Amino acid sequence: MILTVTLNPSIDVSYPLDHLKIDTVNRVKNVRKTAGGKGLNVSRVIHMLNHDLTATGFIGGYFGKWLENQLDRDGIARDFLPIDAETRSSIAMLHDGGKQTEILEAGPTIAPEDAQKFLDHFDKLLDQADLVTISGSMPQGLPEDYYTQMIANADAKSVKVLLDTSGATLKSALEAPVKPLLIKPNEEELAGLLNRKVDKTDYAALKQDLMDPIFDGVDWIVVSLGSAGAFVKHQNKFYHAAIPKIQVVNPVGSGDSTLAGLAMGIHDGKSDEDILKTAMTTGMLNTMEAETGFVNPAKFDTYFAKVTIENY
Ligand code: ATP
Repeated sequence: MILTVTLNPSIDVSYPLDHLKIDTVNRVKNVRKTAGGKGLNVSRVIHMLNHDLTATGFIGGYFGKWLENQLDRDGIARDFLPIDAETRSSIAMLHDGGKQTEILEAGPTIAPEDAQKFLDHFDKLLDQADLVTISGSMPQGLPEDYYTQMIANADAKSVKVLLDTSGATLKSALEAPVKPLLIKPNEEELAGLLNRKVDKTDYAALKQDLMDPIFDGVDWIVVSLGSAGAFVKHQNKFYHAAIPKIQVVNPVGSGDSTLAGLAMGIHDGKSDEDILKTAMTTGMLNTMEAETGFVNPAKFDTYFAKVTIENY
């Protein structure tokens, strides 16, 4: 099975409003609440495409119970480490013709004992895992190299890790002796890592960027480019994955859906071409749905056939 890690899950609350009024009351009729945090988006997509997975991370309080109930309702296997503090909520207000204003709680602060307990819990789960995905930022209280420790633990059991995070956490993972199998930086994250501007429309320059020694030892680097698909390095091969023009309903969570596709393709031992086609298809299918981290499996084959992979 694929083990998906969401250390700071969240109840994602979405409020559609015609107009957001400041310093007064806004009333909403159609509230949508989903099990969120990037790793749970990954989990949902993997599950919808009929792959075995277990979702893990820290969970706490009544909100945590609600979240676990949602996963049970959807049939997503889970094995979270319970903590005392409440799991967080994240609010997205969709207003004024396409604007999105978000209020994101930091979430619980993880106590050192819980940090250690989770590493032990993770270690046990690794015995049943073929592949791990780690997504999102870390909750407060954990050391910067916590993901690095998890990657080393996974490596000790010969389990590879796909890591989708940013900032100091990503940097720390790249500096560690044991590397993730795959990272998925976007343009901004890439620029942050390289400490220089990155032009995502210039593939020749992107190719140079991905050859930077900072990435040595990382097998796959997938730079997703929204409607332009993705530019990818796998060992010493480079690819551009091109996608058709599609009707976008809600692009939020496309990166997570792409990671789900990468995980499934790699897990299934597919060719580079098919791994990338799967990832582009899951990304596209997510943009075509109103819900976040959600795909319509019936459309998979049609869109898979429309992705083209060129060597670069
Ligand atoms: P996120 O903020 O959701 O993590 P990201 O920046 O990591 O996103 P994107 O590059 O925006 O990820 O999107 C990931 C994939 O989703 C793309 O490679 C593509 O397959 C699909 N996708 C995203 N936006 C579009 C779009 N406008 N049209 C077609 N496909 C899209």
